[in-house]
Amino acid sequence: MPDRIVAGRVVPDRRKAYRMEPIQAIAEPFLKELYPRVVRRPSTDDEIQPWRTCYDEIWRDRSDEIVADIHAFTDVHPVDEQRSDGAIKHWASGCGEQFGNHHTDMLGDRSYYCIAVHVGLLAYTAHMRELRTKMNCEHGWHRIVERFHYACSGVVGYGFIGASEKWGMLSLSYRCEPPGAEACRAAEEVATEASLRTCERCGRPGELRTGGWRKTLCDEHVAGWHDD
Ligand SMILES: [Zn+2]
Repeated sequence: MPDRIVAGRVVPDRRKAYRMEPIQAIAEPFLKELYPRVVRRPSTDDEIQPWRTCYDEIWRDRSDEIVADIHAFTDVHPVDEQRSDGAIKHWASGCGEQFGNHHTDMLGDRSYYCIAVHVGLLAYTAHMRELRTKMNCEHGWHRIVERFHYACSGVVGYGFIGASEKWGMLSLSYRCEPPGAEACRAAEEVATEASLRTCERCGRPGELRTGGWRKTLCDEHVAGWHDD
């Protein structure tokens, strides 16, 4: 259903599929805002280091590691409130140990790596914050849905629509086209299986509880569940 105009106002299609561009692309506005010096391409007769080229090369050569560091942060900080700008900056500054330490005035490879993780994480968390507005399940499953969404983000035609709980299990709705359907279904299977092992309330290990209702909860949350 496309956006409609009702009484002179645009009513957005709430079921519009939500897509994710590659992290490097969505990080660009954050790079421009926080590291304008890196964005500016030096002129050809410039003696200074071509920062932009170094930054792009880090993404070209190290994107798997950058993305792994982004996922490591979001696994450790599954709740959105934990993902403050300060926590992100602190995490990014500790990344890139594989490059060793640089104590020179020049920006070394490690610095570019840390910048890439920093702006990549800001972009990723902002994107996922929006994704959470489309989820109707409890917080404990949000990270599972994020991982599903990221896994499908490169699939042509994929778009996220919603997530909810059904019979104690995660239920995902999304769009995809025939060539990518199998990849999406595989990611969906991983997510629904994970939901049956994860407390929907808190994200800690849980199991499917039955008896009148069906819900996947940890030992702590199953205790008060029937009182809700
Ligand atoms: Zn729990």
